[in-house]
Amino acid sequence: MQMRGNEGNMRLGALEAGGTKMVCAIGDETGKVFERISMPTKIPEETMPEMIAYFKDKQIEALGIGCFGPIDPDRKSQTYGYITSTPKLPWQNYNIVGAFEKELGCPVGFDTDVNASALGEATFGICKGLDCSVYLTVGTGIGAGVYINGSLLHGMMHPEAGHLLVRKHPEDTYAGKCPFHHNCLEGLAAGPAIEERWGKKAAELADQPKVWEIEAYYIAQALVAYTMVYSPRRIVLGGGVMHQTQLYPMIREKYRELLAGYIKTKELEDLDSYIVPYSLGDDQGIMGCLQLALLALQG
Ligand code: ADP
Ligand code: ZN
Repeated sequence: MQMRGNEGNMRLGALEAGGTKMVCAIGDETGKVFERISMPTKIPEETMPEMIAYFKDKQIEALGIGCFGPIDPDRKSQTYGYITSTPKLPWQNYNIVGAFEKELGCPVGFDTDVNASALGEATFGICKGLDCSVYLTVGTGIGAGVYINGSLLHGMMHPEAGHLLVRKHPEDTYAGKCPFHHNCLEGLAAGPAIEERWGKKAAELADQPKVWEIEAYYIAQALVAYTMVYSPRRIVLGGGVMHQTQLYPMIREKYRELLAGYIKTKELEDLDSYIVPYSLGDDQGIMGCLQLALLALQG
């Protein structure tokens, strides 16, 4: 038998469907990405044919989609495979899975973008081998993917743990940006909230300690809640705002303070390896989509 090292032998399609761009890729079951393209997210009538044309002649066995949401990932639901109440109006109530199934004729896996990242890290990355982990993205929005007992958490849809209600920082007078809850985690700590609170883009505020103290305070509260609710063995952070690497020690310190010694496990003894940055070079999403494709193929 010819040894192929860690190479896979499948051809799988991956689509990271974002509100601003669509990343389409071809790879294998080991998470290896052979090729990829990116295109702007316009209206379905324009963008879908472009993506279908890309995948159509690539001989893929299955496609995995990690999608902006909210979405309906419940196979038993009438609107399974739809992007549901997204603020991107042309994509509201759009059956993205149905469209790909019809045109490509192969199995299609479907989940949220952040669940795909959680799956990528759990399958190929820093959470490989752990039975329970959480992935949090802090970017234009905030979302969490939960990998639990070997699969992604869904329930009636998917967690919306970015909209967690948090305690306000005593020095924060900003009202919050979430149109539903105002001062939920996303409303107070996503990139656009930072920008509106301080009147400058988050990336330009790197040298302002107060900005990151307040940010760490909110993220730490969320992580404490995730620890309490899901009992993860590790929490991974990603998204544009987490490029501010000074946040990590600040979040860990605040987290320790808020947890107040209540939970004692070997994982929590070492917060440097409990609360960690993404490990797959920002490919966790696309690699997670390859795994979604593989799972769809396996039924
Ligand atoms: P999206 O969430 O749209 O997929 P990102 O994860 O890149 O995309 O998040 C974009 C948000 O992250 C923006 O609000 C932007 O201001 C913020 N951001 C991007 N780069 C940085 C940075 N270096 N430092 C702080 N914030 C950043
Ligand atoms: Zn909210």
